[in-house]
Parts: sequence; C-alpha cells; structure tokens
Amino acid sequence: LRQAATVFESSAEGVTITTPDGSIIAVNRAFTEITGYDESEVIGCNPRFLQSGRHGKNFYHEMWESISRNGRWQGELWNRRKSGELYPEWISIAAVHDKQGRLTNYVATFSDITQHKQAEEKIQLLAFSDPLTKLPNRRLLLDRLQHALASSSRSKRHGALFFIDLDDFKNLNDTLGHDKGDLLLQQVAQRLIGCVREGDTVARLGGDEFVVMLEDLGSKALEASSQAELVGEKILATLNLPYYLEEYLHHCTSSIGITLFDGHQDSMDELLKQADLAMYRAKGSGRNSLRFFDPEMQTVVANRVAMEADLREGIQKNQFILHYQPQLDQAGGVTGAEALVRWEHPQRGIVSPTEFILPAEETGLILPIGLWVLETACEQLSAWAKRPEMAHLTMAVNVSARQFRQREFVSQVLSALDRNNADAGKLKLEITESLLLEDVEEIITMMTALKARGVCFSLDDFGTGYSSLSYLKRLPLDQLKIDQSFVKDVLVDPNNATIARAIIALAHSLGLTVIAEGVETHEQLHFLSGHGCQAYQGNLFSPPLLLEDFESFVRQVKCRTGK
Ligand code: C2E
Ligand code: CA
Ligand code: CA
Repeated sequence: LRQAATVFESSAEGVTITTPDGSIIAVNRAFTEITGYDESEVIGCNPRFLQSGRHGKNFYHEMWESISRNGRWQGELWNRRKSGELYPEWISIAAVHDKQGRLTNYVATFSDITQHKQAEEKIQLLAFSDPLTKLPNRRLLLDRLQHALASSSRSKRHGALFFIDLDDFKNLNDTLGHDKGDLLLQQVAQRLIGCVREGDTVARLGGDEFVVMLEDLGSKALEASSQAELVGEKILATLNLPYYLEEYLHHCTSSIGITLFDGHQDSMDELLKQADLAMYRAKGSGRNSLRFFDPEMQTVVANRVAMEADLREGIQKNQFILHYQPQLDQAGGVTGAEALVRWEHPQRGIVSPTEFILPAEETGLILPIGLWVLETACEQLSAWAKRPEMAHLTMAVNVSARQFRQREFVSQVLSALDRNNADAGKLKLEITESLLLEDVEEIITMMTALKARGVCFSLDDFGTGYSSLSYLKRLPLDQLKIDQSFVKDVLVDPNNATIARAIIALAHSLGLTVIAEGVETHEQLHFLSGHGCQAYQGNLFSPPLLLEDFESFVRQVKCRTGK
C-alpha cells in the first residue's frame, strides 16, 4: 500500500480516483500541478467541473460508452485549469472492479500535452510552409493540387495552374542585397493573395518562383481559360505596381505561364512542367506577359487581345451603326423597332454583335458602345417624333448587365433622353435575366427610378436564364420577350411549345405584355397568336434593316394594312 501510495504521489502524470458515481476521492500532486486545484478543493466533486466546453455531448457520451463496454478509454481531451486557461491532455480512464466484479472506482491518469501540441504545430508549419512568406511550400501545394485534381475530375470543372516568376529578381538581390530581396518577396506574396479568391492557393516554390492554383473555373475549357486570363492580367498589373522596400522605390514585372487542368489527363509533375514551360515562353516573348501552355488557349487569348485593340479603335473611329428590326402587333401594324448594333469593320466588313458583345463586356468596352447606342436611339426617337407617320414608334435598346450595373446608368439614360428631347415613354430597355443574379434590390431601385420617368422595360431572352418568380413580381417590367430558341421549335418540340405557352400565361397573369422574337414562319405565328401572344418580331416580317429601309417598311405596312 505504501509503495502504491508513493507511486501515486510521485507520478509525473496526474491521477484522479472517483467513486462509481463520479465523485472524486483522491488526486495526486501532479493533478494539482496540472489543473491548479488543491486536493481539498476537489474532493467530493465530479471531474466534470474541469470541462473546457470544447467537446460536445456526443464526445462524452461515446467516451462513457467505451468505458462501460471495454472498461477503459483513452484519448485527447481539452480541459480547463483553475486559471481559466484551456489545455490539451492525454488521458486514460479505467474502471476498477473488485473480486466479485462490482465496479468500485474509476481511475483517470493524464498528462498535459500543451508543449507537445505546440511543437507539433510548429513542425507542421515548418514542413508545409515557406518561412519567409508563410505561403504554402511545394509539399503543401502538391497536396492541394492532388485534391484539386481529384475534385475536378469528379465535378468536371476546370482549374488552372499559374507559374509566376519575377523578371530581374536576381538583379535586385545583387544590387540592393538579400534583405531587400526578402522584403520584395513578402510583398509579392501579399499581392498574390489579394488577387485570388479565398479558396484558391498561392504557394512559393523557392527563390522568386510562385505558383497560383485556381479551382472551379467552369466546365468549358474556353470559358475557364478566359477566366484564368483575367486573373493572370490582374496579377501582372498588381505585381507591376511600385514596391516600397524601406527607403527604395522599386519596380518589377513578372512573367506568367498558365496551364488548365480538369483532373483527367495529367499528372501533377506534368502540370507543373507545362506551367513552367509556358512561363519560359512568356519570358521569351519579352517578359511582363502571360502565356498559356495549350496553343489553342493561347490563340483564344491572342484573338481577344487583338479584338480589344480593334474594338478600341472602332469606338474611336465611330465604326458602329444601328440596324432596326420591326416589332409588330397582332393586327400587323409596326409598333416600333429593336435597335441592334453592328460593327462596320474596315477590313472584316459588317461584324455581328454575337462576335463582339461578349468581348466588349469582358473588357468593359461595352460601356462606351452602350452609351453610343443609347444616344443614337434617343436621337432617332426624337427625329421620328417630328414626323407624323413615324411618331408612334417605340425603340427597344439592349442593355448589358455590366452597363446597367454602373452607378451612373440611370442618369446616363435620363440625360440621353433630355439631350435629344426624346419621349421616355417610347424608350424600351431590354434587360436579361443575368442582370438579376446579384443585388436585385439595387437593380429594382434603379429600374423604378427610370420607370418613374416613363421608361419601359422588356425582359429579353426570357426562359433561358435564371428567374425567380418572386423577383419577377417585384420588378417594374412591362414586357416579357419569349426567347427565339422556344419560338424556333415551337411546332416540333412539345417542351418548347409548353414553355412558350407558359410564358404567355405567366405574362398575362403578371399583367405584362408579351412579345415573341425570332418568328420565321406563319405556323409559328399562328401557334403563338392562338395562345394569346400579342406582339412579334422576326424574319417572317423583316430582318434588322438600315434606317431608310426600316422607314420604308413602316410606310409600306401602313399602306397595306392602314395601320
Ligand atoms: P437579341 O437581343 O436576342 O436580338 C435578337 C437577335 O435575333 C438579333 O441578332 C436579330 O437579328 C436576330 N433575329 C431576329 N429575328 C430573327 C429570326 O427570325 N430568325 C433568326 N434566326 N434570328 C433573328 P443580332 O442582331 O445578331 O444580335 C445578337 C445579340 O447581340 C442580341 O440578341 C443582343 O443580345 C446583342 N446585341 C445587339 N445589339 C446590342 C446592343 O446595342 N447592346 C447590347 N448590349 N447587346 C446588343
Ligand atoms: Ca434584344
Ligand atoms: Ca433576345
């Protein structure tokens, strides 16, 4: 007994002995050292008072299950010291039985593993991060890349790997010294983090080599490369800003190689090699640039860059024109036109908006183009107002989401109307459902402000995007425009017929008018009018026309129908 008592007292591990119902009958010196409580303070208490609050009910439940099933439990547990401090301990709890097998006591022995844990964390940090920038190192990057490949092959969504290398870093190191070089690397790390989303990875492989990994770039390779390019451009621009290295103002550019992955084809090593190779091509092409590994992606990007320069020139030199496509009512009268922009390219001839609107949106050039369209449309409205045979015509103008979302949009529309002395009630803005994906409240406020001045709204391409019926009710709309994809197959595909009918019914029940676009045949017209559609646009009546042709179309229809 004396021996047992000596072992008990001198043990480096804390020991707690309780009765079967859990009240403490003995603790040792190590218990006091670890928990801060004297024996006199704890005798008779249930050890529960040490609980940290870090573990849920289930945790304790499972622990006691194991003790009653196996007679013991051991594991890691967080408890609270008398000082209030939480600490981790490694604890083992055993049930003690007498000769007859009756439960007499529980004995818990535990050791404080705070230091052990801290050391473990430090080792983790050292093993997986770069000490200078605290970014993930190569090992952690490879680990994440492996996960990313697995999840992208599951989700079929692309990711991208960027190899980023600073131009002339060695020069800085040699001239200003390594401590300035270190400062630069730390700032580069911070800027890179600022360029990506939270779930993306920025890693440093060593020297001035960084890797960025983006995930979830969508399922189409072209779309993914276009997104990757935008991030790449942002990184180039951000890394180009001046650096303050204590007393030195430093400038530096970078070269970026990009490769896409979708979890199928490539090994991790292969991907890193591809990105590295692309980076060397970027360096070779004069630095401060980005290159894709895949030549096809590179072409896409090159075309886009050329397109952007071309578009800028087009804006400067007024190369855009409007065509007008008639909109007709049930009786066959022309009620107005949709203004559709074209680009009169000096070499390429007439370029369709399907080719340049998207790049214009991505580069922001849709803003000046959209302004020009708005201005020209208002000018035309006011010219028509002065001519009796044209004065009734409305003008539908397409507005990109990006254009609408600018803060100045409302005042831009109003001042275009004012400047041209045009009737707001004849202007119809065609918006798409994509506008309603974000900040709907703000959009509603803007629409309401325009509506208050008489401007009308039509929801274009309706049925192809995302629309919440509850928003639809709250938007100050005047019209739904059935997308041409439904109209096209309305007679062959029963699904499209159902959708077209449903859109017409929905418009009626919301008190909106409804127009069908892309009407090409009498059969389509017949089907639509049979289901209550009241307005039409399409090649059956007329394709988009030059201004003079549009005006003579209006006069012709008037002669023919008297409307
Ligand atoms: P959208 O607004 O859906 O315009 C209707 C498109 O369908 C026009 O193509 C028109 O020419 C075409 N279309 C009309 N009737 C028929 C038909 O019976 N059959 C067929 N197959 N097609 C018909 P367009 O002019 O090439 O315009 C394409 C898209 O470009 C427009 O689609 C619109 O989203 C965009 N867009 C055009 N002008 C502007 C503009 O000024 N600003 C903005 N943001 N986007 C514009
Ligand atoms: Ca339209
Ligand atoms: Ca449309």
